[in-house]
Amino acid sequence: MRLVDSHGHVQADRFAGDVELVLGGARLAGVERILVPGWDPESCAEALAIVGRYPWLDAAVGVHPHDAALVDDMAWAGIVALAGDPRVRAIGETGLDTDRGFSPFPDQLTNLRRNLALALATGKPAILHCRSKPGERDAQDALVEELRLAGFDGPPGRAVFGDRPPAIIHSYSGPLDYGRTVIDMGLAVSFSGLVFRPGEEDSAAVARLAPSERLLVETDAPFLSPPGAPRKRNEPEWVRVTAAWLAEQRGESPEVLGDGLVAAYDFVLGRA
Ligand SMILES: [Zn+2]
Repeated sequence: MRLVDSHGHVQADRFAGDVELVLGGARLAGVERILVPGWDPESCAEALAIVGRYPWLDAAVGVHPHDAALVDDMAWAGIVALAGDPRVRAIGETGLDTDRGFSPFPDQLTNLRRNLALALATGKPAILHCRSKPGERDAQDALVEELRLAGFDGPPGRAVFGDRPPAIIHSYSGPLDYGRTVIDMGLAVSFSGLVFRPGEEDSAAVARLAPSERLLVETDAPFLSPPGAPRKRNEPEWVRVTAAWLAEQRGESPEVLGDGLVAAYDFVLGRA
């Protein structure tokens, strides 16, 4: 089965000792593309460094909601400078997180807005992290509002992106009607090992709704290990577990789904 990992932090410290082996394992498992998102200035620079060493990888640069309060205007200017690099295919990861609240919400909003503006300015899709506390949906509702305010589902988004999705909902989490909303807005949706966790049951219906050209799969390595993967460190090769789940939910053969995932990755990230 052909595979992609639309979100793997292989520049993280936890891979420093054996990234060559980890990437080799991914290739053997069928992984043909990995998008490596940064989360703060240092990890963005490291994403570009690793893409320099392994040209089959793609980079993304942006600021995670957890780090929103730590990135000042100077550090942000550094990320804007990196965003012009042709090896940078997306802006992120950014988003909103009211589950853990590592940065105050107003700082998260300021951060999200400048990341969204950078996506529109560069024509590179935004990668959106969005988590609320279990059973709640305040982050999802606020994210949809911010995307609308920024024009992601209107003329500004269409002028820049045309038919391409202006953003990717990374590691999908949330109720079914939120999934329907982001799909109707033209966004891409990426599923991770989170789909196997209690409270994420609506992900199955969202996985069936997503059009194949906007359907992605990811690990969020080193986090969010799916069943069967080591809990201490998830790796890109384990994307096959979530991809098999997607095939089952959609009633597609692994071969058909895999071809679709590679095509969707290239379409969404402008590689086609
Ligand atoms: Zn991530």
